[in-house]
Amino acid sequence: MDVQILRKDFPILARQFHGHPVAYLDTAATSQKPVSVIEAEREYYLRHNANVHRGVYGLSEEATDAFEHARERVGQFLNADDPNEVIFTRGTTESINLVASCLSRGVLKRGDRVLTTILEHHSNIVPWQMLRSTCGIELDFVDIDDDGRLRMEEFEERLGARTKVVALGHVSNVLGTVNPVKEMAERAHARGALVVLDAAQSVPHRPVDVHELGVDLVAFSGHKMLGPMGIGALWGRAELLARLPPYMGGGDMIREVHIDRTLFREPPARFEAGTPNVAGAIGLSAAIDYLLKVGFDDLRAHEDALMRHAYSRAEEMFGSRMRLYGPPPGPERDAILSFALAGVHAHDVASLLDAEGICIRAGHHCAQPLMERLGVSSLSRASFYLYTTPEEIDRMLEALTRVEKLFAPRATAAR
Ligand code: PMP
Repeated sequence: MDVQILRKDFPILARQFHGHPVAYLDTAATSQKPVSVIEAEREYYLRHNANVHRGVYGLSEEATDAFEHARERVGQFLNADDPNEVIFTRGTTESINLVASCLSRGVLKRGDRVLTTILEHHSNIVPWQMLRSTCGIELDFVDIDDDGRLRMEEFEERLGARTKVVALGHVSNVLGTVNPVKEMAERAHARGALVVLDAAQSVPHRPVDVHELGVDLVAFSGHKMLGPMGIGALWGRAELLARLPPYMGGGDMIREVHIDRTLFREPPARFEAGTPNVAGAIGLSAAIDYLLKVGFDDLRAHEDALMRHAYSRAEEMFGSRMRLYGPPPGPERDAILSFALAGVHAHDVASLLDAEGICIRAGHHCAQPLMERLGVSSLSRASFYLYTTPEEIDRMLEALTRVEKLFAPRATAAR
C-alpha cells in the first residue's frame, strides 16, 4: 500500500487552509471520498437515473439492477448469507433507531432490559432511552476500566434473565477501544438476548464478518468508509428480520393497501419505505470496491503503525503534560487518538491547529456519558485512515508545542 499514490485518489487532500496544506485528521467524524466513489454517483445521475422497483421501462430496470447489485455487494462485504438481509438506511443512527423502534412494537415489553455500555455514541444510547419512556424498558450500562476497556466481569453480572438486548459498539469513537464482540455475543446469546452491533467505527477499518462475530444486527454508515453521506445499512439475520414489524409506512414497503388494512412486503422492502438513496447505495458499493482493493491487512498494518508513531512521539514530546485516553496501541486499539493538553481547552487546541491547516475534532464527540465517566467536558481527537501520513501526525504534534507555549506558559516553563 503506497499512501502517496493512494492520496492522489483524494483531490481534497491537495487543498490548502490558511496558507498550509490540509492535514485531515478527522476521519472518525467522516472520511474523505476517492474519485471512484464520486464518479460512481455522478455516472448514476448522468446516465442511469430513474426510480427503482417501479418502472417497467429499461432505465428503471437499470437503476433497480444497480441498486440491488449494491445490496449484494454490501451483503458479500459482511459475509451475509443473503443480500435481502441488508436494509439500506441513512446511516448508523437511522439503523439503530429502526431496530429500537421495531423492537418496541411487539418484541420488548415493560420491565425488559437493554444492556449497553458507557463507551457508546449517543446514537446507541438515545434511541434506547426513548424506549425507556415510551414502553417502560430498563436501560443498563457496563463500565470501563482505567484504560478504557469494558469490564467483562461487570458485563457478565449485568446480563440477567430480563436482558433482552445487548446494544454494543464495536469500536469506541473516542477511545478507539475494540470490544471483544464475539465473546460478548456468545455470553449474551447464552442468556437469550439479541445483540445489536454499532459498527460505525469498525466496518471502515477491519473486516466485519457477521458470522464470525455471531451478532444479530449490525449498523454502519457509508460516509465513514469512503462512501457518500446519507447512506448506510442495517444487516439483520433473516429469521429475525422476518419477525419484526415495519419501521416507517409508505410506498415500496407494502404488498396491498386498502382503506381498512395493509399487507406488508418481506424484508428488506418492509423496512425501506419511500424512494431510497440509489446513488448513495451505488457510491457505497464503489467505496467497498476501493477498500477491498487496498485490503484490510495492509490498512490495519498502516493504521497500527500510525497509532504507535503518534503515541510514542506524543509521550516523548509532552510526557505528563498530555493525557492520552484509551488502551495502548495494539490489536485492541483503533487509530483514534483522544487527548487533553494540560491547561488548554480542547476547542482552543482545535482552533489553533486549524490556523495551520490541521483538522482535528474537539468536544464531547457525541458521547457525553463517557465524558462524564472520564471526568472531562471535552477532549481533542485526531483520527487516522488509509490516506494519513506520519508527517501529518508530526505536523500536528509540532503545532501542539506552539499551542502549549501560547496557552500554558507556566506548564512549559516548568519543563
Ligand atoms: N456510532 C459511532 C460509534 C459513531 O462514531 C458514529 C458517528 N460519529 C455514529 C454511531 C453515528 O453515525 P451517523 O452519524 O453516520 O449516523
